[in-house]
Amino acid sequence: MNREDLAPALVWFREDLRLADNPALYAAASGGRPILPVYVLDDEAAGSWAIGAASRWWLHQSLLALDRRFGGALLTLAGSAERWIPELARQVGATSVHVNRSVAPWQVGSDAAVEAALARDQIEFRRYDGSSLFDPDRVLKPDGTPYRVFTPFYRKGCLGQAEPPREPLPEPEALKTVACPSGTGAGDASIDALGLMPDIPWYSGFEQSWSVGESAALERLDAFLDRGLRGYKSDRNRPDRENVSRLSPYLHFGEISPNQVWYSVEPLRSDPVLGDDIDSFQSELGWREFSRYLLTHWPTLPEQNWQEKFDKFPWQSDEAALERWQQGLTGYPIVDAGMRELWQTGYMHNRVRMIVGSFLVKNLMLDWRHGEHWFWDTLLDADLANNSASWQWVAGSGADAAPFFRIFNPVTQGKKFDPNGDYVRRFIPELAGVGADRIHEPRTAPGDAGIGTDYPAPIVELPASRERALAAFKALSGG
Ligand code: FAD
Repeated sequence: MNREDLAPALVWFREDLRLADNPALYAAASGGRPILPVYVLDDEAAGSWAIGAASRWWLHQSLLALDRRFGGALLTLAGSAERWIPELARQVGATSVHVNRSVAPWQVGSDAAVEAALARDQIEFRRYDGSSLFDPDRVLKPDGTPYRVFTPFYRKGCLGQAEPPREPLPEPEALKTVACPSGTGAGDASIDALGLMPDIPWYSGFEQSWSVGESAALERLDAFLDRGLRGYKSDRNRPDRENVSRLSPYLHFGEISPNQVWYSVEPLRSDPVLGDDIDSFQSELGWREFSRYLLTHWPTLPEQNWQEKFDKFPWQSDEAALERWQQGLTGYPIVDAGMRELWQTGYMHNRVRMIVGSFLVKNLMLDWRHGEHWFWDTLLDADLANNSASWQWVAGSGADAAPFFRIFNPVTQGKKFDPNGDYVRRFIPELAGVGADRIHEPRTAPGDAGIGTDYPAPIVELPASRERALAAFKALSGG
């Protein structure tokens, strides 16, 4: 046996909090090599993209679940990864550090610094792809430049590759862990000491809505395959139905990999009725790939308009309107139900995310970055790639984005996608007694005295705000 076989390996967990299909863990533990599993909460390196409040609740539960899988051997620390990872690797005598790649620009920078520090001690830094179906660096147009439009990216760039996505790996057999020697200066390395949980317990809605961790992710996937997938293509747009997977927080934190999800639907192709639903579901995973791809090739995506012409857009400044939007008090039921769903459960249905986004950016003419930051703090699935790419998509400033002039009418959208008002009534108790005919415009129909009077009147008028936004956009486009 050589030194490499005997020496432990450090596995640095980030957004890959699982044992199955974890390429970094699998490689590190191969041949029965002992590992030191580590998580570092590095808020400083993350800067303004430090994990938001809702996601911190999820992360706390997720680390507890992972730690249980390791029999209590997961080492969790707060502080600089650039300091901790090389330090811990040295302390346990590791000859290699294994990580799954992250596409967050701050993390890419931090990885480079860790790699350089490790190299000074001749410790190898090995990077794997555990969170993408298709390597963003390898999907390029024939001229070698990155794709800018989703359909050719997905159809030619991804599905057109000779190799399909990597098949999921099993959990490593008979995992052996090493303890960190005392005197490392790690101090209180408990999960509680990370301080992820808020002092005031405002998260009871999360506890009622979610189970966290790798086994919960697999249960969620199974439930979706049993009850949600059939009809996904048409009903994924219906917030009143149960046809979406709700896997997004699990995918973000890596409690399940996109490869596991992708391959879970393949055996169901033998059912001829499900073909379109499966294609549609996999293409949503394709949108996730596209977001990661955009962030890899355009690292300023979270902060800067992808289309520079939007730098001159005359965004309004209206604190009061922003607060009404955040609190779900705009007077437009589908918008308010979405914002309240977000606050209560840490999740919002995709169709409703598009509606509330369009309302903020177009009807209120507030900068998309306000929405992006609010979502960052309140979503359990807050994901730098998906959130920034989706907000730029909604605003019209992004790659292959919804054209700015396509402005969702929240009343029409509500009638179309929540026809009986069940979704609205679930989140807006003030409208519990309002019938399907009035639920999406309770305060705007004539002769409505007494209907929904606890509920606010609309904060903007739709036709006028629409015209204002279109005029601003026209001026921007020089038309
Ligand atoms: P399903 O329909 O079951 O889809 C399965 C998976 O595919 C999702 O879990 C997700 O990983 C991926 N996916 C689905 N739709 C999209 C999409 N449009 N773009 C990218 N990936 C997609 N998603 C996040 O994960 N994190 C975010 O921070 C986030 N912010 C968003 C902000 C706005 C303004 C909008 C319009 C969308 C945002 N999305 C975000 C994308 C999408 O809304 C969610 O991924 C989806 O609603 C998650 O629900 P689900 O797991 O039930 O999706």
